[in-house]
Amino acid sequence: MTRITVKLVSNHYWCPALAWLKVHGPGVAWRPPHFTPEHAELVGYGDIISQVLDEALRRITRGCSVLRMTREKWLYSSALKLSGSVDLLVECTDKTIVVEAKLRRPRRDDPAYIQVGLYMILAEHNGYRNVEGYVAYPDGLIVVEEAWKTHALKELRYTVKTIGMNHPPPPRRPSSACRTCIFRRVCPYP
Ligand code: SF4
Repeated sequence: MTRITVKLVSNHYWCPALAWLKVHGPGVAWRPPHFTPEHAELVGYGDIISQVLDEALRRITRGCSVLRMTREKWLYSSALKLSGSVDLLVECTDKTIVVEAKLRRPRRDDPAYIQVGLYMILAEHNGYRNVEGYVAYPDGLIVVEEAWKTHALKELRYTVKTIGMNHPPPPRRPSSACRTCIFRRVCPYP
C-alpha cells in the first residue's frame, strides 16, 4: 500500500494528476529531475529557509514560554496512515505551534495551507495541545485558519481515492499551471 505523505496530499490539491504520476510514475524510461540537496546548496535554499524560520520564531513566540523547538519534526498518524516532516514545531507551556516556511508569499489557494492544516492535525494526533499553524515567508507570516484542517482532511480522502485509480484524473487548474511541471513530458493532459 502506498504511504501517503503530507507533501503528496498538497501535490494532489495542486493537481490530482501530479499526485497520481508521482506514485505510479513514468517508469524507468524517464525520471523527473529533482531538486537535490546539491541544487538547494547552490541556490542557498537552506540559509533562506533558516532566516525565514528565525524571523517567524521571533514573532510568534512573543509572550510565550517556549519549552522546546524542533526543526524538521517528523509526525505520523496510524489512524490516518499519514506522515510528514513539518519545518518547525514549537512547544510552549500553553500551546503548540507548527510553521511551514516558503520562499514566497503563498497565494490564496496555495497548497501550503493544506500542508499546514495536515501538520496541525498530525500534531494533535501526536498528543500536542492547542495547535496553531503558520506559513512563514520572507518578510511575512500568515495564520492558517482552522477551516484548512477540514479542507486538508477532505483532500487526504481524495488523494487516497486518486492513488487507487488506474489512470491519472484530470487537472483542476488552467493549463498554464503545467508550464513548469516536472511531469509535463509524461502527463496525458497538458
Ligand atoms: S502536466 Fe499539468 S496536468 Fe499534468 S501533472 Fe503536471 S500540472 Fe498536472
